[in-house]
Amino acid sequence: MTDLDLFADPVDLTAALIDIESPSFHEGEIADAVEKQLRALEHATVQRFGNTVVARTDFGCAQRVVLAGHIDTVPLADNTPHRIEGDTLYGCGAVDMKSGMACYLHAFARLAEPGKSAYDLTLIAYEAEEVSSEHNGLYHLERDHPELLAGDIALLGEPSGGIVEAGCQGTIRVFVDAHGTRAHSARSWLGQNAAHMLAGPLTRIAEYEPRTVTIDGCEYREGLNVVGLDGFVATNTIPDAARLIVNFRYAPDRTVEEAKAHLEQVLQLDDELTLTYDDIAPGALPGLGDPVAAGLVEAVGGNFRAKFGWTDVARFSSLGVPAVNFGPGDPGFAHKPDEQCPVEQIREVAAQLMQYLSAKEKEA
Ligand SMILES: [Zn+2]
Repeated sequence: MTDLDLFADPVDLTAALIDIESPSFHEGEIADAVEKQLRALEHATVQRFGNTVVARTDFGCAQRVVLAGHIDTVPLADNTPHRIEGDTLYGCGAVDMKSGMACYLHAFARLAEPGKSAYDLTLIAYEAEEVSSEHNGLYHLERDHPELLAGDIALLGEPSGGIVEAGCQGTIRVFVDAHGTRAHSARSWLGQNAAHMLAGPLTRIAEYEPRTVTIDGCEYREGLNVVGLDGFVATNTIPDAARLIVNFRYAPDRTVEEAKAHLEQVLQLDDELTLTYDDIAPGALPGLGDPVAAGLVEAVGGNFRAKFGWTDVARFSSLGVPAVNFGPGDPGFAHKPDEQCPVEQIREVAAQLMQYLSAKEKEA
């Protein structure tokens, strides 16, 4: 087994993690390597579930920070072992997300000592993020051991360009259905045109002016859009059925109930039209006003922005734990054969993480 050095330069640690190939469903070797080094830390409690490894400190700090990342990658594309050219590290997982994992492992190892960290820490290195969510190691933890996800804030090491990405918008998708009477278009007065019955809500959506809301300094742009139109029978026929598919992306200062009420108020459907909710997902507040999160924002020099779509961050927020993405690298290179990350960004994220988590010097 490859011996990892969690205390090494995070760039070297990233390279070592890339060189242990770990496409989804083949995380055994990398989980063994990570587990072995975490178990060597005197003050960490380590548990393993499948190929997901959880390490915790319990120094009795008032607050806990969760550092989480996946250890799997997409299938290899002839891009291992790693290589460094100039200031750039290349290899499968260089950006998604072995560089972020390296920063988190490095910080955890250095701070899992009495008096070193300002917070108790939980490190979660989980399997199978790049495949459907029934396999996802974090989903399994959320289902079977939700107490292990508890904390005052969770950081996900997904690539975010070294910027803190917080909160997410909610989404609602509805069907608006009209039922008329079919007729030959040469004798249209015998029918009732279902497509025309949708003119009211269609116009109101087209004229709708969405809000932009700023919450905790993050800007959210809402959107209300028709994403589908259906109502065709034949080119000589008045349609007796027509449907609008409408998507409302709303800022996280609205609850699901408030967003539904607002949508219905905009649509103003009369009794002839029916409304069906097809999909509803709540937003998540960025939670950056919380003191534990504010310390992170300060450590990254105020570099944060709203996150518009996300996956595993939502698992924490559904448990009431504010969660952000914070990792090195441009997410645009994720899953690409030429996956790459600037080495400086790895060192910068590692340094900012250490600054954020380290116990502050006692004031004289
Ligand atoms: Zn990822």
